[in-house]
Amino acid sequence: MDAARLRTSWNLVAAHGDQVPLYFYSALFLSHPEIRQMFPTNMAGQRDRLVTALGHIVSQVDQVDRLTGFLRDLGADHRKFAVRPEHYPAVGEALLATLRHFLGDQWTEDLARDWADAYQLVSRVMIEAAQAAEQVNPPWWVAEIVGHERRTFDVAVLTLRPQYLLPFTPGQSIGVSHPAVRAWRYYSPANAPRPDGTIELHVRAAAGGAVSSRLVYGCAAGDQIHLAAPVGDRLTLWPAGGADLLLLASGTGWAPVKALVEQVAAEGSRRRVDLYVGARSRLEFYDTDAVDKLAAAYPWLTVTSVVGIDPRRPGEVTYPVDRALADGDWRSRHVYVCGSDEMVGRTVQTLSRAGYHAGQVHHEGLGRHWYGPAWRTAVESSPQDDSGGAR
Ligand SMILES: Cc1cc2nc3c(=O)[nH]c(=O)nc-3n(C[C@H](O)[C@H](O)[C@H](O)COP(=O)(O)OP(=O)(O)OC[C@H]3O[C@@H](n4cnc5c(N)ncnc54)[C@H](O)[C@@H]3O)c2cc1C
Repeated sequence: MDAARLRTSWNLVAAHGDQVPLYFYSALFLSHPEIRQMFPTNMAGQRDRLVTALGHIVSQVDQVDRLTGFLRDLGADHRKFAVRPEHYPAVGEALLATLRHFLGDQWTEDLARDWADAYQLVSRVMIEAAQAAEQVNPPWWVAEIVGHERRTFDVAVLTLRPQYLLPFTPGQSIGVSHPAVRAWRYYSPANAPRPDGTIELHVRAAAGGAVSSRLVYGCAAGDQIHLAAPVGDRLTLWPAGGADLLLLASGTGWAPVKALVEQVAAEGSRRRVDLYVGARSRLEFYDTDAVDKLAAAYPWLTVTSVVGIDPRRPGEVTYPVDRALADGDWRSRHVYVCGSDEMVGRTVQTLSRAGYHAGQVHHEGLGRHWYGPAWRTAVESSPQDDSGGAR
């Protein structure tokens, strides 16, 4: 298999932008109409996901060893879409038809064989992982909403009780879907695992957002939703060992950070933890009671609230990192950062300029990503990521 040729051909195809997913899904649904019902009714958000991810992964087949962990997670995770082994050849055919269409004269028999072999390798890893996962976890969990509180106009705090225990590590995210929407998004539990297995989620309704709007405005206690296995290790505490921590959170980025604080408390370690929690305005601090309770309960925890926008200084945004660096030098600590992609990008840049090294800064942005945290770790950090701004 000539991996360089696969990548070059994929880049040529990807340059056709939105036309590529449009063609791919038409080919897939025309040849296999039974697959259509596995995708959301509104395909707008989906369009750039599956085919772009597939093309990117398959064309990196020479690094399949490095990608194996990601592919296994992806295979196991795709059980939540009710994907079965017989669906993989259908997707492979649509992928090859798409490549053939966009490559025109450059689509040769050799290239077709390489793509088919590479796809088979990738799909075999995913299918085997899905089968192995059957022994460990259900494809998804049904959970009852046992608490639903609208804390601000667009933020709700949900308490969920899964029918079976859903194990997770603080800092991870879980898949969430509403049965009426048929789309999955990631949300981060805002608590350390509890003896009763309940999970707290903090959800901000994105304007026009399919899943978040449903969770904030269209759900109530007693409703059922679906959850999928936890993913991600970017915000988990293990790389920090027993080090003191600086935690920087904005908006609903507070959710996984709250889980980390609870974990430190549960571990009974002697870390010092300084938390800077930000919101655009005072009215947007949606979890003040919980923050105050934590600060009062734990002498090792110091909390500072940071209001992002001051009407007296229009156009300027103060992020938690700005206040934290003004307050002290934290370079002996591990730093955990969560918020919007913009907040995280600004924070990481500021820390790097101030001499913090990448290994001590752990961050997760809550923006839209094809396959969430696992995708970022495995693929976006790829040294050979030559996808040309695939995100
Ligand atoms: C690892 C991870 C953890 C996350 N944890 C949380 C969490 O704890 N709480 C939480 O509220 N959200 C969280 N998110 C974001 C969440 O997964 C969804 O992206 C978000 O709720 C929007 O989904 P939607 O279906 O409502 O919007 P979509 O239907 O996907 O999009 C609708 C519109 O909103 C825009 N949009 C989509 N996502 C975002 C976004 N994240 N920010 C701004 N605009 C967006 C789109 O561009 C589009 O215009 C997390 C994301 C990731 C990757």
